[in-house]
Formats: sequence, C-alpha cells, structure tokens
Amino acid sequence: MQILDGKALAQKIEQKVSEGAKELKTSTGRVPGLAVILVGHDPASQAYVGMKKKACDRAGFYSVTHEMPEDISQEAIIKTIEMMNLNPNIDGILIQLPLPKHVDTTKILEVVAPTKDVDGFHPYNVGRLATGLDGFVPCTPLGVMELLAEYNIDVKGKNCCVVGASNIVGKPMAALLLNANATVEICHIFTDDLKKHTLAADVILVGAGVINLIKDDMVKEDAIVIDIGINRAPDGRLVGDVDYDAVAPKTSYITPVPGGVGPMTIAMLLSNTLKAAQIHAEEAR
Ligand code: NAD
Repeated sequence: MQILDGKALAQKIEQKVSEGAKELKTSTGRVPGLAVILVGHDPASQAYVGMKKKACDRAGFYSVTHEMPEDISQEAIIKTIEMMNLNPNIDGILIQLPLPKHVDTTKILEVVAPTKDVDGFHPYNVGRLATGLDGFVPCTPLGVMELLAEYNIDVKGKNCCVVGASNIVGKPMAALLLNANATVEICHIFTDDLKKHTLAADVILVGAGVINLIKDDMVKEDAIVIDIGINRAPDGRLVGDVDYDAVAPKTSYITPVPGGVGPMTIAMLLSNTLKAAQIHAEEAR
C-alpha cells in the first residue's frame, strides 16, 4: 500500500505557480489577482477563505475578500461580481459556497465572467469540460487528477466508481475520468447497493460527506482509493469518507485525510488563477 501524499505535491505545485507568477510579472508587469466573495459568518467558510488568502500571499498573488452580511440582497452580490468582472487587477473570482438560502446560487455563478471562473462552476466551463475542451475545471477533482498523474496512475480502461454526484465534486470528477478514457460509474444517495458498485471498481473516488461510508468489505484487493470527503468527527478530528485504518491495508494506493486531496484543492485554485492571469495578459497584448 502506498500513500498518495497530497501535501507534498501541493507544495511542489505552489512552488511552480509562484515561479510562474514571478515570470508573468517580469514579462508583463501583471500580478495574478483573486477576488473572494464571502457571504455570512459560517465558520468553515471563513476558515477556507482564510486558507485561500494565505495561499495567495505565499504565491505572490494579489487577493481581496468581499465580506458580506448574511442578509445581503442577491442584486448587491451580482453588482459586486460585475465590478470584479470589469476590474483589470482581478483574474479570478471565487464565490465561497454555500450561499444563504434566499440567494439563487446558479444565478450568481452565471454572473462570473467565464475567463475569471477559477472554480470552474460557470455552465460555460462545465460544458467545455463535458465536451473535453480546455477551460477552467473545478479545483478538487482537478487536484485528484494531478495526484494520480504524480504517481503515474493511468485510469485509461480502469473501472472507476465515483461516489457522490455534486456539481462541485462528483460530476466534474466523473467527467475528468471519462475524458481520460476510464470506464466511469457515478453513485449517489439513491444508488441501490453501493457495495456492489464499489467492489467492482479498480478505483474508488468518494466525496459524499459521510464518515466511514466506505468500509473494508466494500473494497477489492489492490484497489486505489481516493478519499475526497472532509468531515469533523465527534472527537473533533478531521476525517474523510473512508474507514481508513480498515481499508488502507487492502489498497494499492490511498489518500489520507488530512494531507490527501484537501491541500491539492488550494494548489489547483492558485494554478487556475495563474492560468487566468496568463490568458488576460495575452488578451491585453
Ligand atoms: P454535497 O452534499 O453537495 O454532495 C454529496 C453527494 O454525495 C451527493 O451527490 C449525494 O447524493 C452523495 N451521498 C450522500 N450520502 C451518500 C450515501 N450514503 N451513499 C452514496 N452517496 C451519498 O457535498 P459536496 O460539496 O460534493 O462534498 C462532498 C464531500 O467532499 C464533503 O465531505 C466535503 O467536505 C468534501 N469536499 C472536499 C473538498 C476538498 O478540498 N477535499 C472540496 C469540496 C468538498
């Protein structure tokens, strides 16, 4: 069994991104800029935004956070995004989810300019991913693909079982695997007999938000297990969706939580923001 070390790879990618940012600044004078929109006071969202800001600082990016009260109107959020769309110092716009219930998340995500959509949530980029075209890809599943590539794991022809079908994790994960010529199954809360599907898989990628959802009797010998879940256990520890201690010995590769997919997400956000800055620099020539 080998552990897929997302922390080490994320550091390597961050290093490359900060070198790329330096080069961009030297050749064009442009510093990559990220705007984050944070609505309300959810402690987890605040913590994620704090981590993203620190990562931007480490990479030498400009970053700004627009903090808005929980009861802000949808129109005010849209106005701020439109301002960021026009702001030449901003290359990437990130809407921290979830948004409050009175706000139409789909509508908000559609306002972000597709070339500043560093989270890859705009339907334009979703469509490009679905058709195998270049665009912005959601950071978490993109990070998973980078992690697999780092360890020379080729999913071509492999049976991949994606557990979780959200727009942020499961669906783009499945699209990336399909684009890499894997045979892909997507399971979700209404899937009958989850174990039947996971047991047949060469690669299990789980992002459901359910502690210990994947147990050792659901995993075949030498499977590759990618745990995308991040959950707070009753004792306060951060854990994934896989019963790690029982499952790990059966696997050929497995990601730990923390230190697996989590750090890759932030590294890919930086990478996507640099890519956006490079596109904008090219457009300005
Ligand atoms: P979500 O609630 O939007 O979606 C969860 C998905 O899992 C749904 O498709 C649901 O049908 C499925 N699901 C739920 N219970 C299930 C069950 N018992 N059996 C099978 N499928 C089940 O959540 P999300 O935003 O996609 O996040 C999923 C998990 O990934 C969470 O733990 C979240 O914290 C984590 N996450 C991690 C990162 C990262 O950086 N590693 C990024 C985003 C989300």
